[in-house]
Formats: sequence, structure tokens, C-alpha cells
Amino acid sequence: YKLNNKNLSKFSDEALIPQYDRSTLKTGIVHVGIGGFHRSHEAYYTDQLLHDPANSDWGICGIALLDFDTKIYNTLKEQDGLYTLIVKELDGTLTKKIIGSIVEYLYAPENPTQVIEKMASNDVKIITLTITEGGYNYNEATGSFDFTNPLVQQDLEHPQAPKTIFGYLTQALKLRKERGLPGCTIQSCDNIQGNGHMTEKMLLSFVHMAEPDLVPWIKSNISFPNAMVDRITPATSEKDIALLKETSGIEDAWPVVCEPFKQWVIEDDFISGRPAWENVGAQFVEDVVPYEKMKLSLLNAGHSVLGILGALIGYETIDESVQNKAIQTFLHSYMDEEVSPTLGDLEGVDLKKYKQSLLQRFGNIYIKDQIDRICSESSAKIPIFILPTVNAQLENDGPVDHAAFVIAAWAIYSAGLDEQGNPLNIKDALETLLKEKALVAKNSPTSFLEIESVFGKLNQSKRFVDIYTAAYQNILKYGVEECITQMNNKAL
Ligand code: NAD
Repeated sequence: YKLNNKNLSKFSDEALIPQYDRSTLKTGIVHVGIGGFHRSHEAYYTDQLLHDPANSDWGICGIALLDFDTKIYNTLKEQDGLYTLIVKELDGTLTKKIIGSIVEYLYAPENPTQVIEKMASNDVKIITLTITEGGYNYNEATGSFDFTNPLVQQDLEHPQAPKTIFGYLTQALKLRKERGLPGCTIQSCDNIQGNGHMTEKMLLSFVHMAEPDLVPWIKSNISFPNAMVDRITPATSEKDIALLKETSGIEDAWPVVCEPFKQWVIEDDFISGRPAWENVGAQFVEDVVPYEKMKLSLLNAGHSVLGILGALIGYETIDESVQNKAIQTFLHSYMDEEVSPTLGDLEGVDLKKYKQSLLQRFGNIYIKDQIDRICSESSAKIPIFILPTVNAQLENDGPVDHAAFVIAAWAIYSAGLDEQGNPLNIKDALETLLKEKALVAKNSPTSFLEIESVFGKLNQSKRFVDIYTAAYQNILKYGVEECITQMNNKAL
């Protein structure tokens, strides 16, 4: 049977289904970017919470903001917002749960006014975001908002029909102010250190230009809590869709698959109230930045290390990469020698255990997390996941060998071929520039480090440049696996 409201009760033997009346829920949250991660994380936590009738004000309206988001919008529309979350347990069993927390869905390109009105609605207390690292429009070189983005320019020229999240938020907040409505919370759930600070800084930069009079109102009426988010959620494959139908009879056009582990650490700064997500496993803390730093520089950076090295060798999934003992040892040393010393005090966290659990999670053979997914948009990820560690180490004259090696491997990767000469499937907003520099790098490796919007001033560190150049040449000469084996043996 097709998954929708009408058929929902038919699935009660095959999956856990919502045990609450979805038709009576109020929409208290607007979420922008209803991709895989939102649906395995925030929508999941919220679904758990909605089982307690005291929380019926916290239904979610999902916004598909980009032109190419038609598929998710149409799927949610046909399925009444329902979808199946398939948790791939470590022993290979599947836990299936139909999630009911998304009660409304809007496709912004079709009806921008409706989206703006929804964000400005009095019932909506929180606007959450998963717009990817690149969605924040942050330029690493200038440390500020990138006004050269043509979509931003169009939002400045046509404020009533915005294309970017910043255009939408500005119009919605302007309405709230004009109508004398209370403010709301804007909460990022993207993998960015200080993601609340980043959201605030980028939004205010845009508003300064678009609607300067709105700035003071935003400063006093909107809160931007930082949050650390975690649950590995690979892109759904056709196989997953078929398997769900075969094993349970549920016809779901876009289920979500994820690992059992989940974590959400949030700063308790919600100006217009919030759901009691702590009742379903989230953690509210005063300062989330140390937790985020730990997660981004170990889990996310670890993913990039496994992805980039694995891609060059010719692997397709992260578990293949982590099963390679040489790569595993390399990652271990990177985490212990280069990352851990930069993390400072983390109260209540057993760092050794955390690192061990990461290797176990990366190695989950049922997750089959795609290396293509992990390596996509590396130009936005590397500056957030790896460069803060490099910069901290350079400041203290500390080790950067592993990070420099990974960046050299990324330079080679960006030329578009793996070590067997097979084409790589690269998806990156800066793809053309990366490739251009990567091709020049074959004769002059440092040209790749000249991409200032990614690397900032990194090419001015002679120590880093020397280590990177040697790594680049060694990889071309010996291949990734031989080089890291030698590095692991301290021979290189
Ligand atoms: P996805 O490809 O399934 O979905 C991406 C969503 O982001 C889409 O809905 C798309 O419309 C939206 N989006 C992309 N660029 C945008 C932009 N410029 N403006 C507005 N919306 C934009 O990806 P996903 O797995 O859901 O991951 C999304 C983000 O979630 C990641 O970039 C990361 O920051 C965070 N995250 C993901 C995972 C994971 O394991 N997948 C884990 C932790 C955090």
C-alpha cells in the first residue's frame, strides 16, 4: 500500500506508527530544507515528543526552498507529510518508524508569499534550518557574507520574490515587526561551529543591506541558539525503497535511512518558547561550542578524511574506507595527535571512548554511507571541519602532517580522477574553480592552496606549504595507500 493518512493504520504490524492525532496539531515550527537529515533528526525527535498531548503546539511545516526540491515536496504532498525512518541497527536489523511530525509542506518557488506568511505566523515560534554548510553564504577569505552571489543580488532587487533563505527570513521578520507580533527563534541544525552565531551574523549582514531599519528589532526579538547535531544519514538509495516495500509492504517514495546513534546538544536560548526536546533525549546546555568543535573536528573531519582518501583509492562507501587498516590507523593518529590537543576541556566527555565509538559508527556495514555524499561540497566542509584544527596547530607550532596530507589528496581528487584513472563524481559549488586549480597543481601543487575563499591565508605558512607539497608529490609517486602506510610506520 502507498504510505498516506488513509493507509496508515494498515502498517501498524510492520512499523511503529504515530499514536497521536495529527489533524489537531498546531504548526509551531517552520523548517527549511526537508532533506534526509532533518527527517532523521529534528522531525524524529519531535515525532517522539508529539506522543505526549501536552506538546501538540509543535507540528512542523517543511519548506522546500530550492527550485530542484520538487521531488521532496511532491512526495510529502502525496504522502500527507508521512515518511518511514529506517534505522539500520549495528547487527543489521531494521527498525521502521513512520514519522508524523511534518504536518504541512510548502514549495517556496511556487508560492513565496505563502512561505513568508507562514514564517511570520503567530503560531510559529521557531524557524529551523538544514540548508547545508554552503547555504550560509559565508566567504572564508573575507570572513563575511558573500554579496557577489547572484541569488543574493536578485533578493536585494526583488525582495517580494526571494530565492535565498536570507531573503525569506528578512521579509518574514519585517512582517512580524510591522504586525507587532513577537519575535521567534532561528535555529540552525547544520554542521557549522557556532551555527547559531553564523546564522545571526550572515542574516544581519544581509538585513543591513536589504532592510537596515529592521536590524535593531532583530537584535532584540530573535534568538539564535547554537546546536550540535549528529546522526549519520546517508542519501536514500533505490535499494532502500525496494527493501522497505519487500519487507513491510510500505510503498514510500522517499523513506530515510540512518544509524541508531543520535545526539542533539542545544543552547537553551529560545525567545518565544520551545518544545521539551529534552524529554526525548536532546540535551540543553549553556555553551554548546566545545561539543560542536569536538564533533566537527572528529566526526565530520573524520568523514572527510575517509571520504577523500577512499575516493582516490576507488572505494564507494565509508565503511570500505574504514575497513582499510592503513586508513584506519592514519585516522586514529590524525584524531589523537592533531585534533585532540586543540579541543581543550570537555566536561563530562570521555574523549577516548568518543573516538572509539566513531570508528565503530563509521564501520557500520549496513549504513553504506556514500563517499560521493561525504565528499560533496568539500569546499564548504574543509574550512569548517579541518582548517580550524590546522590553524590551531600552526599557531602552536604543532603537527599538521595528516591534515596537510588530506588536503593534498583533495587537490589531486579535485582534478577529477581516482588512482585507477576512473572519473570521480564531484559535486561542489566551486567545482570549476577547484578543477582549474587542481590541474595547474600538477606542475605547481601550491596553486590549489591559492583558493582564498576556501583556504584563507593558509598558503602563507611556509611550514604547512612544505609539508603539503611533499605529501602531494608523494601521493602522485607512491599512491595514497603506500604513503599512509609509510606515515603510519613513521617512515615518511
Ligand atoms: P539532503 O541533500 O538530503 O538535503 C539538503 C537540503 O538542504 C535540501 O532540502 C535542500 O533544499 C536544502 N538546501 C541545500 N542548499 C540550500 C540553500 N542554499 N538554501 C536553502 N536550502 C538549501 O542533505 P542532508 O543529509 O539532509 O544534509 C543537510 C545538512 O544537514 C548537511 O549539510 C549538514 O549540515 C547537516 N547534517 C547532515 C547529516 C547527515 O548525516 N546527513 C548529519 C548532521 C548534520
